[in-house]
Amino acid sequence: MLAVHNLEVVYEDVMLAVRGASLSVAPDAIVAVLGANGAGKTSLLRAMTGLLDIHRGKITRGNVSIDGAELDTRRAASVVRAGVGQVMEGRRVFVEFSVEENLKVGAHTVKASGIAEKLDRVYGMFPVLADRRHSSAGYLSGGEQQMVAIGRALMSDPRYLLLDEPSLGLAPKMVELIRDLIVEINDAGTGVLLIEQNAAMALSVAHHGYVMENGKTVMDAPAQVLRADEDIQEFYLGLGGEGGSLRDVKHYKRRKRWLS
Ligand code: ATP
Repeated sequence: MLAVHNLEVVYEDVMLAVRGASLSVAPDAIVAVLGANGAGKTSLLRAMTGLLDIHRGKITRGNVSIDGAELDTRRAASVVRAGVGQVMEGRRVFVEFSVEENLKVGAHTVKASGIAEKLDRVYGMFPVLADRRHSSAGYLSGGEQQMVAIGRALMSDPRYLLLDEPSLGLAPKMVELIRDLIVEINDAGTGVLLIEQNAAMALSVAHHGYVMENGKTVMDAPAQVLRADEDIQEFYLGLGGEGGSLRDVKHYKRRKRWLS
């Protein structure tokens, strides 16, 4: 079990971005984290993957653990070795590197003799990347670049894969493809933590979900309960017509009371 206990994250010693977030991901589960812009989702993920340092952030309280053993979140490589792969927001492929070179970047914790087998596995999952293995990643479509980013994270054979907004900016067909890949990755035995603004997509595949507001995890429920929740439907699934234009569910509820 990958677990976050009461985490607090501060940037540049002043900006409190995460104020007590807790969650857990079972090894066979897909877990979604929903939340409005600025709720702290990306900061939570950076904290879990050892990437806060490069953003001048730090964990000031709480910790992250796997099966009870605390992760050394000050070192990104140590988190990867512990079995946590990540795909950060914006895909971040190396555009001048070929597809294969990009994938190999993700294999820095893998023995040289094991790399060919990992590549085969990723190419088996993403045949389109096998065909383009020697092309510059910069020439690929947004969806294909997202596949490179996911494939790169899979090269370390993670027990848990953390994804930050994998559907962002993608055409609906590509979003479907990425969603199917998430299910496939999970079926193959990897726990998935999925951060998404696209709540409909996230809740369509997740087993469990959390909602973050103002740096805190404020809801924690099976995905089917969240899907049926009226406030989630109206605020995150856009079924109430106001979509994500309001700051958070609390604000939404206040406004609903005021309007009625
Ligand atoms: P989005 O969906 O818009 O990406 P988010 O839920 O992922 O939002 P974060 O990106 O974690 O939210 O941001 C949480 C808060 O932390 C915001 O107020 C943001 O401005 C602030 N923040 C994020 N990164 C930094 C940074 N490097 N330095 C200072 N403040 C930051």
